Amino acid sequence: VVTSIEQLAGRGGLVRASADLLRRSAGALKGVTLAFELHGPNPDAHAQVPRSVFSLDAPETFDGTVTAIDHARAHGLPVVVVSTVSRSNMRVLREQGSLVARLGASDWLLRAPWTSPELAPPQLPRAAMATPFVLDAAVRARRAGLHAWLHGFPLCLLGPHAGLALEARVPAVGAPCADCPSRTSCGGLGADYRARFGGGELRATPSRPSQVSPLLSALLDGLA
Ligand code: SF4
Repeated sequence: VVTSIEQLAGRGGLVRASADLLRRSAGALKGVTLAFELHGPNPDAHAQVPRSVFSLDAPETFDGTVTAIDHARAHGLPVVVVSTVSRSNMRVLREQGSLVARLGASDWLLRAPWTSPELAPPQLPRAAMATPFVLDAAVRARRAGLHAWLHGFPLCLLGPHAGLALEARVPAVGAPCADCPSRTSCGGLGADYRARFGGGELRATPSRPSQVSPLLSALLDGLA
């Protein structure tokens, strides 16, 4: 089961509600994995991503999210962190991975910017520009023992690190994806991105992503 503290505690103030909930009901949360969105290693970077990935509500503050994660971990509850990559945070993803590991999360899901309909230029980076930062952060996080996963990144841009990507649910469309041997497990770049930038960054190539575990599948179901 993946859920957020918001879903368990209602919509009134994540920090207070979650701290209170955990103080009163930590035992009842046993076996539940809590998912949080944290989009940067500091308040400014976090605030640059304009919306919650779990709902249409505004994202919680950086400090509130970190405090809630601390409370969850103090009670032994497993935590997954979701980060939407953007032009403003892609250069600090390495620091963010260190923070997520320090906070004690088990998994870190890096979500591609073009999967978020609300991200538009100048916050929407080109795929070839953002992906090296994402790979650098994910590989370093893995070395530190954090299970970093990539969601929505084209397999052909990941080279030997395609195994960090989660298998796509919707096959890629358009050229060159239509003739690519990886098409059924790669989501490509999405219609909106392609309409804006085209598909010139892509090259048809055989690649194998990782299968999506039930835990991460539930998390992907919950992404707005
Ligand atoms: S060319 Fe192949 S690997 Fe690249 S995005 Fe398209 S389907 Fe994925």
